[in-house]
Amino acid sequence: MRPNKEAIEFDNSVENAVKKYLNNKQAYCMYPGCNMHAISSHTISKKISLNQISENGILFSPESKRMYPEKKYGIGEIGINDASTFKGFCKIHDEIFFSVDKNGIKSQKDVFLQVYRVLNYIIFNENVINKMAPLFYEKLNTSLKNENIKKIIERGKNTATEANEIRIKKLNKYSSNILNIINAGGLNSATFDEEAFLTLDITMDQDIQENSHNKNEDNLIIVHRKVNYHIPVAMATKVSFSLNTQGKEDELFLICIPYENYSDLIIMFAKGKSLFAKNNHYLHYIYNDLNMLELIEKTMVNSEDWWMSPRAYKSIPENKKEIFIEDMYYRNLNFFEFYDLSIFNDLRAKLIKKYKQNQSGIDKLIKIHEQRLDHIPLRDNKELKKEKLNSKMMLAFLDFRKE
Ligand SMILES: [Zn+2]
Repeated sequence: MRPNKEAIEFDNSVENAVKKYLNNKQAYCMYPGCNMHAISSHTISKKISLNQISENGILFSPESKRMYPEKKYGIGEIGINDASTFKGFCKIHDEIFFSVDKNGIKSQKDVFLQVYRVLNYIIFNENVINKMAPLFYEKLNTSLKNENIKKIIERGKNTATEANEIRIKKLNKYSSNILNIINAGGLNSATFDEEAFLTLDITMDQDIQENSHNKNEDNLIIVHRKVNYHIPVAMATKVSFSLNTQGKEDELFLICIPYENYSDLIIMFAKGKSLFAKNNHYLHYIYNDLNMLELIEKTMVNSEDWWMSPRAYKSIPENKKEIFIEDMYYRNLNFFEFYDLSIFNDLRAKLIKKYKQNQSGIDKLIKIHEQRLDHIPLRDNKELKKEKLNSKMMLAFLDFRKE
């Protein structure tokens, strides 16, 4: 399908509507039972994390939502005050994150608090989609003149709304369970070692489980790891990776919090359903620095909720940058596919060096990563990719998140 001017105009008006909505909307606190007005706050602490990677108050982030064919896309500057910000909690309930904002993740309880905050950030964004969707459809009917596009969108509409509501329901379930665990007071508040590694098995509430198809399928695994090096990107996201060409997908939450000399990483996934949980596949990723780095890069391609240090972004060679941005919009990465573009060359080189000094028996892995450093991957030609994307986007219309 060819791009057309009215589609682009519509797209821009949609984006303006979302911005206006987010700025003006009087949001209410997401803490259960609270009906106070929410204040703007950061999902990833500005004070101890975002400040460490920003330069002159600027970070780099994906510029627009993939919600319409032929959308202008890119990675652009974002002010630190807008990075990971949402109106999630009132002044009182925002205080529950006080220690995480001040000291970072230092205990098991902090891991849960950070996960709780990110879940609500994702729910908040899903709710925006839910609220805005009817307005978009209305606007479509009056602004779009192309009958074919209208028909396709009409067909995709119900599927998108339903998918959005299922996601919100599930996320709310995760959120309330995590909060219950925090409030039950049984969490270990002992301070971590410098290089911590923690796996937590979360069983969903009984009453919720009973309504579930498979009693254990939504139980969660949270893995936290503190590493003693700086990762130049902050991330608070949920991604869906395709598992095969039939479009089967696996869901993964990934949180990355960089500080000056170290970083906190949190991975969360459903235990019963996720392939990530099978054969301890997650250990393969999170326990090995090079695999972890690749997972972060792969997640960035599949997500928009990340904020990169300007220095790291500017250090990516132009030809790689172009492929990276294209991949973000055209690629649906297979979970088991090794991502062939090295975004963080400096960090990768540093980790390779570290492995060469300390480890043995993983020469093959080191070699793969070493080859990635200067590798410029080949991609399909742009027209072909656009065609593929257009048909995909049409069906998932208004389902902003790639699922
Ligand atoms: Zn509140």
